[in-house]
Formats: sequence, C-alpha cells, structure tokens
Amino acid sequence: MTSPPLAPGAGATGREWPDRLAGVGKARRWWRTRGHDLDAQAELARRPLPLPAGLEIEWLGTAGYHLRYQGASLVVDPYFTRASLGDVARRRPLVADPTMVDRMLGADADVVAVAVGHTHFDHAVDVPAVVGRHGCPAYGSSSLAHLLGLHGMSGRAVTVEPHRRYEAGPFTLRFVPSAHSKLLAGLAVPADGELTCDHVDGLSGAAYRCGQVFGIHITVADTTIYHQGSAAFVEDELTTGPVDVFLAGIAGRAWSPGYVGDIVRILRPSVVVPGHYDDFFRPLDDEMGFSFNVNLAAFVDEVGALSPDLEIAALAPRRPA
Ligand SMILES: [Zn+2]
Repeated sequence: MTSPPLAPGAGATGREWPDRLAGVGKARRWWRTRGHDLDAQAELARRPLPLPAGLEIEWLGTAGYHLRYQGASLVVDPYFTRASLGDVARRRPLVADPTMVDRMLGADADVVAVAVGHTHFDHAVDVPAVVGRHGCPAYGSSSLAHLLGLHGMSGRAVTVEPHRRYEAGPFTLRFVPSAHSKLLAGLAVPADGELTCDHVDGLSGAAYRCGQVFGIHITVADTTIYHQGSAAFVEDELTTGPVDVFLAGIAGRAWSPGYVGDIVRILRPSVVVPGHYDDFFRPLDDEMGFSFNVNLAAFVDEVGALSPDLEIAALAPRRPA
C-alpha cells in the first residue's frame, strides 16, 4: 500500500515570529521548522500502523515504547520522570517518580520484560521503577545490570549476549550490538563508557553513562520490529534480515551522515516510525515539544527520497493517565 503524498510544512505559513520581537533570521528559521514538525507529526500520526489484530504499539515519548499482545506487555526504554535541563546541568540526582509507571503503562498492565538499548538517563531512569512495580526481568547491557544493582534488584537484570534469542511471554528479543550518534559536535558520544556510579544518590544525568549500545529486534505475532534508540548503527552486526516495523530513533542523525539511507537499505522495513524527536526535558503532563535540531519534517523528506513505496507513520505520544 502506498501512502498518500505528504507535504511536510504545508499549512505552516502565517505563524511567523514577529520581526520586531525576534529580530534574527535564526529564530524565524527555528519557528518555521517547529511549525513544519508539528504539521508532519499530525499528518503522520493519522496513518494507521499496519499491525496484525491484537498487537498494539504505543509510543511513550523519547525512545520508549509499550508493546502489547495477548495481555502481555513489553516495555522498551521507558523515560517517564522527566528531568529538567537545569536538573541535568546542575548534576542533581535524577529520582524516578514511581507513580508514573501506572500512569504511563496502565495499572492493569502485565509487563513481562523491559528491554533497554543503552543507559543514558533518557532511556534508563525509570527502568528500576518498572521492574520494581512488575517484578519482571530487564534485558540490556552490563551498565543496566549495575543500575539495577544500585536499586537492590540485581536478580532482575539479564546482561544480554549479542544476537542470542530471549523469550519473554509472546515476545522474542535479540540484541544487536550497535552505536550511538556523536552528539558532541559530531566528535564524541556524551557520557560514554560504563555506568559505574556506586550509589543512587550519585545518579545525576551525567552518571547515567551510555554503556554498550544495542538495537533491539523483537518478534511477536509473526511481526518483526527493530528498535534503534540512537541515530547510528554497526552495519556488520545488523544481520537480522528485513523487518516489518522500524522504530527509528532520529535524534542526533545530523551527526550521522548516511544513517537513514544505510539502515533502511539493510532493514528494508514495511513501515518506518520515527521516534526520539520530542523534547525530553518537558514533563509528560505538558504538550509535547520538539527536540532542538531534530527536524522531523526533513526526516520525512529523507525517507521519501529513498523509495516512493516506503511507508512512514508516527505515533501520538502516550499522555499520563
Ligand atoms: Zn543516548
């Protein structure tokens, strides 16, 4: 099925930042891009994901997803307790709000596993709270196991072997060694290395170090899904074959030239679903904002240029109950 043509940015004119107030072209360009991104998000979110009956994928914001099938839930990279930019800059400990788990996943959720692609704070802060609430295992890197250990839940951590299959309820997980985009001016990965903090009180944003990065291949209901939490990957490791749904983290792709074309060429997805373009310093109770310099509308153009038959859709972010 071919999607109707999308005109990113259509209808975005007429919302110009007044010259008198802004005074600089840069601000005007930012505002226009934001308007284009809002239009692109609204248009893409109207397109239904082609999923088999009974399978649901919900976007939790940033790189977080909630997959449901046959009453079982898989949670990927949950980030519910949003730290402000000030909290992170001042290196305050980031403390999860456990009430957000039920507000975001539903009190009746039966979470069979949490899967984590890397342990930066915007992927990992709320993992211990989800594990604690549901008593489920969390799959990921040795840094994730260390984080769970700090919360007294070492026994819930599964430090994964690359490419091995793990069964969790109706979900089969495979962890593919991957990479993180070099957000620091294209030169380095922020907070790189292992998470080695020795006390929860020291878990500032910077202490949530990246750890090993994985793409997560999920099979459920005869459907294959690939989750890529950051805009970079390791081509030689990505041997899973074509997938149905590509959950594409697009933050940082400005520092990963060729990322979109290269990974789409390998994964050959039926549908591309961009994620990690929302402003993760904004509380989930607020309206979604857009991350600086992500440019969702341009991503739509980039995907469209690869193949006119490639479907692209978006998910409206889950709002807390
Ligand atoms: Zn990251």
